[in-house]
Amino acid sequence: MTAFRLSFSLLASAARLFLVYALCIVALLLCATAVAATPAQEPIAIRALEDGSKRTGQDAIWHDPSGRAGLQTAREALARGAFQPLPGAGSTGLKKGSYWSHFALRNTAAGAVTLHLEYVDHQLMRLQAYARPVGPTGGYDKVAEQAMGDPFSARPVFHNRFVVPVTLGAGETVELLVRFDSEEAGFVFPSMRIWTPERLSQAHTGETAVLAFLFGGIALISLFSLIVGLTTGESSFFAYFVYGLSKVVAWGTIMGFAHQYVLRDAFHWYYMSAAGAVSILCGVVFDRLFLQTRKYTPKLDYILLLMIVNACVLLASALLQIKALALMTITLALLMYPASTIIALVRWRQGSSEAAVFAVGWTLLLLGLFYQALRDLGYVEHNLVNYYLPPLSSFIEMVTIMAAMGMKLRRVRLQGLESERQYRRHLEESKVKLEGLVRARTEELEKAKQQAEQEARTDPLTGICNRRSFLAEASLSIKRAQRKGEPVSLLMFDIDHFKSINDNHGHGVGDEALRQFSHTIRKAVRETDVFGRLGGEEFALLITESRPESLHIAERLRNSICAIRLDAGGETVQFTSSIGIAYRDAEITVEQLLRRADQALYSAKKRGRNIVVEYSADVSTKSAPSQPSFQIEMVDGADQEPA
Ligand code: GH3
Ligand code: MG
Ligand code: MG
Repeated sequence: MTAFRLSFSLLASAARLFLVYALCIVALLLCATAVAATPAQEPIAIRALEDGSKRTGQDAIWHDPSGRAGLQTAREALARGAFQPLPGAGSTGLKKGSYWSHFALRNTAAGAVTLHLEYVDHQLMRLQAYARPVGPTGGYDKVAEQAMGDPFSARPVFHNRFVVPVTLGAGETVELLVRFDSEEAGFVFPSMRIWTPERLSQAHTGETAVLAFLFGGIALISLFSLIVGLTTGESSFFAYFVYGLSKVVAWGTIMGFAHQYVLRDAFHWYYMSAAGAVSILCGVVFDRLFLQTRKYTPKLDYILLLMIVNACVLLASALLQIKALALMTITLALLMYPASTIIALVRWRQGSSEAAVFAVGWTLLLLGLFYQALRDLGYVEHNLVNYYLPPLSSFIEMVTIMAAMGMKLRRVRLQGLESERQYRRHLEESKVKLEGLVRARTEELEKAKQQAEQEARTDPLTGICNRRSFLAEASLSIKRAQRKGEPVSLLMFDIDHFKSINDNHGHGVGDEALRQFSHTIRKAVRETDVFGRLGGEEFALLITESRPESLHIAERLRNSICAIRLDAGGETVQFTSSIGIAYRDAEITVEQLLRRADQALYSAKKRGRNIVVEYSADVSTKSAPSQPSFQIEMVDGADQEPA
């Protein structure tokens, strides 16, 4: 019996020991599980002053693709070790659903510390934060809930990005679970910067000042462009003005300032997409105008047109809040952005130097956007440089393209000056040409006039004065002689039996006789003597000689006429001329003098021809013209009349 009791008590003790051992094993296992389930994270040591250099870390991140998990589900995920280090460099990349971050903060300062945990990007739809003090008891309390669509005034901290305020008592360690929600596909930067409030406020003021400078610069350039556009009428300057303003609106909206300062109570995510779409649209429209692609690169122009259509679709999808389409078109827009640089380079190759500067400006913008895209997709870590690079490169792009616009303006002005110079030169040439033409025409007219006058003065057959010009010139000569007191004689010739020359030898020989006659007289007298054909075979000669000299000349001329020999088909023809002379006495007109000479000539004919007869004044005034009384003088014996 005693042995039985002993055995029983030993057994009972062993069983108790086993139970305790088993319990210890279970407890150990439970402890081990608990250690494994919670990632071995050291709480982040917090000091009295935090300047944003510390981050909440990305060692314990959980992706909930459904986006529906609440705090409890997240805690379960945490308990089963689903929280893992983020594989990317800082961004989750484009993923659906929400991300949870788990971390602990331990206050190492002497007193309580309030912290502002700042989300690093501006494009998050919603943020929720839960905290609990580390200790045996205590559940999580929601410490923040912020959403893009909420009124800005609901935010606990005046900041364009989400900020979670947390207060830690002296020596306290607090565990946090933060949910980042991008709703559909979007990227999340699950590590937050740790600040004490004053330091965040200072940094925010600094950032805002820098951005105000950039936006103000873009706005100023736009305004300047508007003024230049109004002055020059160049459409690309107006487009640049609109483009610049659209940039200010787009970046201001995308970076959260529109929500912070303008649309405080009713902000919507699609404002960001719409503002971006308008900016892209304005940019491409400006590119087309500035690079004049429709005119110079019509094929490449289709790419820009496609970009414009895409930007319109983006705008429409943003306004209609079709998120997937908006995402697709904005990706397409960014992928097509380099086309503008390529087109600008083509235009540069065509000789447009401002297109090269444009290409530089546009490439800078592209680099900014590209670098930020690498950050968004998680290839490079988030930092202030890649965060602010797009607005900064936008600003530099504006300045660079403004320089290109200046170059264009200068070229347009130089072209204007050149065409004006060409126009003036052309005008000058035309003037000189016209003057030459007018001069030539005037000379022609003058010549024609002189010729006409000459013809009007000249007898066409003999080339000597005709009756009219003889009368005019003789009249002048008489007046001149009167003034000088010189003597004047008028000799009148009539070829004897001229009709018979025509009749016997033909009119041609008659004409030749008239020419030879004129030539002979012309040759025998002075140039100042006036000689003319009065008509038919009658001629007159006015000489400023005394009576004896005149008689002598008349006789000499009569002999010269007798000496003329004409060839009429082998036969020699000769002819003679009767000559009547009249002398000026006192005032007398050429007509009167002619009449007197004619009377003397008539007398010469009557007296048998080929003689010189003088007019006698005293007889003529008393006698009838039909039977005048003449003083006849035969000089040097008359030659025989030609056969
Ligand atoms: P007279 O000795 O009486 O002067 O006799 P004439 O034959 O010379 O005089 P008349 O008046 O009878 O004839 C003049 C002629 O002159 C008539 C006309 O045909 C001719 N005649 C007039 N003009 C020209 C001309 O230009 N050429 C030629 N070949 N003959 C002319
Ligand atoms: Mg006659
Ligand atoms: Mg005659």
